[in-house]
Amino acid sequence: MTVFDQLDGEYEQVVFFHDPPTGLRAIVAIHSTTLGPSLGGTRFYPFESEDDALHDVLRLARGMTYKAAAAGLDLGGGKAVIIGDPKRIKSEELLRAYGRFIETLGGRYITAEDIGTSREDMDVVHRETRYVTGISPELGGSGDPSPVTAWGVLLGMRACAEEAWGEHRLEGRRVAVQGVGKVGYHLVKHLVEEGADVVVSDVDVDNLGRAVRDFGVDTVETDKIHAVDCDIFAPCALGGVIRDDTLPELKCRVVAGSANNQLERPEHGEALAELGIVYAPDYVINAGGLINVADELQGYNPERAKSRVEHVYRTLREIFEIARDRRISTAAAADAFALERIGKVGRVRLTWVPGGRGWARIWARD
Ligand code: NAD
Repeated sequence: MTVFDQLDGEYEQVVFFHDPPTGLRAIVAIHSTTLGPSLGGTRFYPFESEDDALHDVLRLARGMTYKAAAAGLDLGGGKAVIIGDPKRIKSEELLRAYGRFIETLGGRYITAEDIGTSREDMDVVHRETRYVTGISPELGGSGDPSPVTAWGVLLGMRACAEEAWGEHRLEGRRVAVQGVGKVGYHLVKHLVEEGADVVVSDVDVDNLGRAVRDFGVDTVETDKIHAVDCDIFAPCALGGVIRDDTLPELKCRVVAGSANNQLERPEHGEALAELGIVYAPDYVINAGGLINVADELQGYNPERAKSRVEHVYRTLREIFEIARDRRISTAAAADAFALERIGKVGRVRLTWVPGGRGWARIWARD
């Protein structure tokens, strides 16, 4: 398959950056800027081949378009990859070279941290470009997004509870949380405060111990958590948790968690619907982190970011309604919801206005 075949007429722009002295080989994929500049993290990873890197960046960039659209943001979708082992080749000069390249895109792509990159790395990138989020609070950044993501997941769970039981309160509900890392820990805290009965699992004994110590929750082996008899199963660790072998073992009424790409394949969304399980599409319920970094573009305000995350509840309610009305899965309804917003708002934005679309206003931080 050629590079252009892979773009499938869907992507606006794909840019390859190469800086041999620093070893930088990066690809930025801009899927859509219909709603605004594209935003998505930089994945720094030792891809087996350049083809794998391109495949991943394209897939991830498209995902960001849907995520930003469903979150009600004026942002499009993009993503970047840096090819190589970050432990071996990451350096100040490589990150600064990368930052300078990002700057040349003039704001069509805004970066952030992802697997293999950290907030400290984004601070270095920020020395060369304005178009980066997730930087340190001292520089105007929003800090760790995980608490806000967890708050969004809690609100999303309430929307799921409303759909499943006609009652949004989580008090007395049994919730199985897979992974008590940065997001899972904060989620468990909220759930316990709400009076839910929480059981957790984690491969990391320190993280598991911290959750047990701080919240007195029950634990279960890592290969059993999805099969716990519970009201809500919350995947907050890895992707691909909902798949052929786990689906028949689920004993929950709701699947709602922060993990990305929870469905191994799209048809697993239909399978959940057939089982009568309410599934909160992952990119909708975990949008708190994106909403949080997006707030940086207006000069970060934690209260405003948190209140914007309330969108997650309303959006899920709307998505559930679409799924019911059209008799489709909630996963398919989320895609339809995102695409329809891009179509409708994108059309409004076709009207030419003098001086551009007012985006200059949002760069208050710099
Ligand atoms: P994290 O690495 O801090 O936590 C993940 C936890 O899952 C760790 O404690 C890890 O030990 C545990 N884990 C790994 N494999 C496991 C397994 N097989 N069974 C049980 N536990 C396992 O990551 P995080 O930031 O909390 O993110 C969790 C998920 O949410 C990821 O999929 C991430 O992509 C997604 N997400 C995170 C954010 C955010 O703001 N941090 C935003 C959106 C989506």
